[in-house]
Amino acid sequence: MTSDCHVADPTLSSIRHAEPVLWANPARAADLPPVLDAGGQGISLDDTKAAAARLARWAGALAELFPELQATGGVIESPLLPAEALRPALGLPAQAGAIWIKADHSLPVAGSIKARGGLHEVLEFAERLALEHGLVDSATPPGAQVQAWRALASPSAKALFGRYTVAVGSTGNLGLSIGVAASALGFKAVVHMSADAKEWKKARLRQRGVQVVEHAGDYERAVAAGRAEAEADPFCHFVDDERSLSLLLGYSAAALHLQGQLQQAGIAVDAGHPLFVYLPCGVGGAPAGIAFGLRQLLGPHVHCFFAEPVQSPCFLVQMLAGAGAHPSVYDHGLTNATEADGLAVPRASLLAAELMQPVISGCFTVRDDNLFRQLVQVLDATGQRIEPSAAAGFSGPALLVGSDAGRQWLQSTGLESRLAQATHLVWTTGGLFVPAAEYERFEQRGRALLAQAPAA
Ligand SMILES: *Cc1c(COP(=O)(O)O)cnc(C)c1O
Repeated sequence: MTSDCHVADPTLSSIRHAEPVLWANPARAADLPPVLDAGGQGISLDDTKAAAARLARWAGALAELFPELQATGGVIESPLLPAEALRPALGLPAQAGAIWIKADHSLPVAGSIKARGGLHEVLEFAERLALEHGLVDSATPPGAQVQAWRALASPSAKALFGRYTVAVGSTGNLGLSIGVAASALGFKAVVHMSADAKEWKKARLRQRGVQVVEHAGDYERAVAAGRAEAEADPFCHFVDDERSLSLLLGYSAAALHLQGQLQQAGIAVDAGHPLFVYLPCGVGGAPAGIAFGLRQLLGPHVHCFFAEPVQSPCFLVQMLAGAGAHPSVYDHGLTNATEADGLAVPRASLLAAELMQPVISGCFTVRDDNLFRQLVQVLDATGQRIEPSAAAGFSGPALLVGSDAGRQWLQSTGLESRLAQATHLVWTTGGLFVPAAEYERFEQRGRALLAQAPAA
């Protein structure tokens, strides 16, 4: 069924030929210790809960700062959607598990998964300043925090934040999230964009008063430039996508909310009911944060797989190289050229890779053509409009169930006999703010490809 995919021997040779692969992680641990090492620092579920609590106490202020959050009282969350209608398009047989979508493509404020991590880091920085300057008090009882934190949307808070700059290097979506959040709070915001960042993302930021600095090189160059500029300025906080624990923990808070959604939907996660989660991966921070939270919260029967473009499999090559090496996709003769701009990253976050070593079940790669086909299939089956990056997870279920590598893994883990009771959860990571004309172009490309070769 996945004729498009060479999975029998997912070696570096297939990766170098930009052929789709599925790699199973031999270092995955069934039982995780409560504290895991993340870049020399231990993190546990308590840190995830602290991030969720931070987002929660900011809710009142966020509802004031962002009119679109009034309906949810400042909560930034996405629905869990049934996606049974996608089964034929995905090539997933009946009796091979249920299909659901975690719809982060619809997250407000940022329009992508970056709303989680990006907002959390900006809020953590703002909160630190506010505590130092007495705008809020750390001794405030939890029940009174939401009300007290509303002061952080006031003119006096804006005056304080306005003395500081928040900067970030980004292919686009992280910049959108950080830039929009920081400027709404009153910070000066500077976003260093790579050459592959989309024009509409730059325009959207400039409209909000964010300074966009364009760099000729790739994402890594944009980050390095931003980091260097920020280091020289004590009033500048640099959001470091490759090294930030605050970003990662902001993403991880999604696990707590998803746990409630799974319960409400009647989806069990246990030995008889495995949960497979497919997460688009760029530098690795977003999927790593979520995988960390899910594994710590729901246990060993959660299996997380990271999805990357065939030309940008930076996380996969990092997992293969192991700690001590830091390869880029260019080292393997790949181009890092992909329409999935949110995933166009040449080198993985070492923090995320180290943290994920015992956590994830595997990685797989996807051709751009398939992203466009599946973007259209998602539209037709569910009405949801996602961007190409956000389609990367949809190849996961069929790879797992239908490819040689996937079947071998299911057999070796004993999960094959549990498939009928399994849940496949595809995380869609961006799309809400894609302009109509841009989306139409994606859709046309996908429809043309589907007309050529209906079964991907
Ligand atoms: C950033 C992004 C990802 C992946 O997040 P990383 O932290 O870079 O791994 C996935 N999808 C979209 C749409 C993104 O913008």
